[in-house]
Amino acid sequence: MPDHPDPVPGPDQIVVRVHAAAINHLDLFVRDGIPTLKLTLPHILGSDGAGHVAEVGSDVTDLEVGDRVVMNPGISCGRCEYCLKGEDSECVEYKILGEHLPGTYAEKVAIPARNALKIPTDMGFEAAAAAPLAFMTAWRMLVTRAKVRPGEDVLILGAGSGVSTAAIQVAKLAGCTVFVTSSSDEKLQKAKALGADVLVNYNVMPWSKAIWELTGRRGVDVIVDHVGAATFKDSVRTLRKGGRVVVSGATTGPILELDARYLFWRQLSVLGSTMANQREFEEVMKLVFMGRLTPVVDRVFPLDQARAAHEYLGRGEQFGKVVLAVP
Ligand SMILES: [Zn+2]
Repeated sequence: MPDHPDPVPGPDQIVVRVHAAAINHLDLFVRDGIPTLKLTLPHILGSDGAGHVAEVGSDVTDLEVGDRVVMNPGISCGRCEYCLKGEDSECVEYKILGEHLPGTYAEKVAIPARNALKIPTDMGFEAAAAAPLAFMTAWRMLVTRAKVRPGEDVLILGAGSGVSTAAIQVAKLAGCTVFVTSSSDEKLQKAKALGADVLVNYNVMPWSKAIWELTGRRGVDVIVDHVGAATFKDSVRTLRKGGRVVVSGATTGPILELDARYLFWRQLSVLGSTMANQREFEEVMKLVFMGRLTPVVDRVFPLDQARAAHEYLGRGEQFGKVVLAVP
């Protein structure tokens, strides 16, 4: 592996000495090649990371060398009309570490100082690195976009992903009844330990049918669907009147089948969501720091075994995050 030159911080940037990076499915998509994404090779993957501040730019006043920090992987321009509304993840120049910018599978990464949050002294780097992308995504999907309310039924498709393990906890914290699906009873039991109320193994019965029966043929209020083509049609059929389906990804394919009759007759909302703004990042990380939300670390690999870690995540056997320790 060739050595990269160390990043140099701009005036409003810091350089973080990374100690842990977490893997996301996004890393696998970038590695495989995204048609619209033009990369300069060699490219450094990795959106999630935590470490200590190694250098600070000349204009940075609120962080010091040695501070232990976690990073918001979304970098926005701060000037466009969306940024001025506070909607960083709608920024016209929105960039994600490891996708459009050098990422966290590295000893050092330069980021805007505003993207770093200090982590509590009793929180390890691996747990901190496992939090940002998954919890930001889950928070914006459920709290901002779907506007979940106490007492609502929330269905989370696929129990084991990082976003799902975050969404189960966020929905539970919001006072919702949480339904989860998986083909693995082991994963379902782990989801139950995180707070899931109703477990559906879709190897036993098609999940849409099971949910329909479990809800007295009413359906659920909100569905978190980042599975995409394989599930979306059934998601729409499984929503209660006035229900919302939130889409933050499409791991099985991007073209979704939508029956307009369900859409208008049940008065459904189809909501897209990407990452989160800085305020949402700070809101959800505060709850992580307080221990109200817990990053789930499935397994830690050393950085030089990133390939094995990608293969492990690609097999989908994990429950929660796969983390790289950066020596
Ligand atoms: Zn912007």
